[in-house]
Amino acid sequence: MKTRAAVLREMQKPRPYGTSQPLSIEEVTLDPPGRGEVLVRIRAAGLCHSDLSTINGDRPRPLPMVLGHEAAGEVVEVGEGVDDLEAGDHVVFSFAPNCGTCAFCLSGEAALCQPGAAANTAGHLLGGGMRLRQNDETVYHHIGVSGFAEYAVASRRSLTRIDPELPFHIAALFGCAVLTGVGAVVHTGQLRLGQSVLVVGLGGVGLAAVLGALGGGARQVIAADIDADKLETARAMGATHVVNSGDEDAIEQVREISGGGVNLATEFAGVAPALEFAFECTRRGGTTVSSGLPHPDVRLSISPTRMVAEQRTLKGSYLGGHVPTLDVPEYIALYQAGRLPVDRLLTHRLTLDEINEGFERLACGQAIRQVIDL
Ligand SMILES: [Zn+2]
Ligand SMILES: [Zn+2]
Repeated sequence: MKTRAAVLREMQKPRPYGTSQPLSIEEVTLDPPGRGEVLVRIRAAGLCHSDLSTINGDRPRPLPMVLGHEAAGEVVEVGEGVDDLEAGDHVVFSFAPNCGTCAFCLSGEAALCQPGAAANTAGHLLGGGMRLRQNDETVYHHIGVSGFAEYAVASRRSLTRIDPELPFHIAALFGCAVLTGVGAVVHTGQLRLGQSVLVVGLGGVGLAAVLGALGGGARQVIAADIDADKLETARAMGATHVVNSGDEDAIEQVREISGGGVNLATEFAGVAPALEFAFECTRRGGTTVSSGLPHPDVRLSISPTRMVAEQRTLKGSYLGGHVPTLDVPEYIALYQAGRLPVDRLLTHRLTLDEINEGFERLACGQAIRQVIDL
C-alpha cells in the first residue's frame, strides 16, 4: 500500500527548518506485515527532541528514514503469529522493541533488549523486517516506529494495547515523554516519599519528570533550566521551586532550598554542563539520573573522589528503565484518575504538512509537546 510520510533524506540542514524543510512529505510504499508484525493506522504522533537530534545530526541514523518514535494508533491488520492483537485495538508504540527472550528481557530490563537495540541501530524492525521503500530505494524505520506517517508496520514487540477510551493525542505521549520522564524519577531514581528532587532541562520529558516527582510524593520538586519561560511553565505545573541554572550561584540556590542538596537529581537537557550541575546539586549519598542524550563525543567532568568519598550515584536511564507493556497501562490509569496530568504537556496540535514548522518551534524552545493528528 501507499502512505504519506515525513522522510528525512539529509541531516544537518540549516535552520530555520520552516525554510530548509529537512523533512519532506512523500508518498512511500509500505509492504504488508510479516511474521510477528502489525499494520497500524497512526492517529497521533509527538514531536520529540530525539527526532530533532537526528535532524541536526547529533544522533545519526541511516537515511532516508521516516522519522517519529512517539505515536499511537489503531491496529488494521496483524501478520502471521500475532494472536494477542486484532484489528480495531488501540496501541501505543515503544521505541525500544523488546524480544522477550534475551538475557536483558528475562531480567526485566526490556529497555536494554539486545536484538531490539541492534534492530534500532540498523533501522530495521525487530526480527529484521524492512517494510518501507520508495520504488527500488530502501527507506529505513526509525527505532521501530516511524510514526510520522499515515500508516506504519511495526513489530508486535514494539506495541502496547491500551484503553480505547483514551484519546490518541494523549495516548501518544505515553510512548516517549511520559515513560522517559516519569520513569527516570520513580523507576531508575527510585524516588521515596518525602524526598527532594531536582529536574534539570524542562522540555516535554523534563516536565513529565516534574509531574512524576509530584505524583510520586516528592517533598520538593526544584525545576531548573536556563530559559525563564520554561521555569514559569514548570511552576505552573506544580514545581515547588525554580532555579535558573544559568545563574552563577545556581548550585548554592539548590543547596539552600533543599537544605544541603537534593536526594535525587535528574537531567534531561542532553548537554554536559547540565548533567555536571545536576550531580553537584545532590547531597552526600545522593543519586543523579540522566536521560539526556548528547552527541556521542561528549565527555563529562565529574570528581571520582566526591563520588566515592560522598557515596554519590550516577545512573543512566533509557525509556525510564521500563517494561512498556507493564508500565504504560499503569501510567494511563494514573492519568485517568487525575494523578498524572500529562495532557498539560501538550502545547500544539499540527497536521503532517506542518511538521517542519513544528520542529523549528521545538528547536527554539517555543513548544513543550506538539502532536500531529493523523
Ligand atoms: Zn522521544
Ligand atoms: Zn530482548
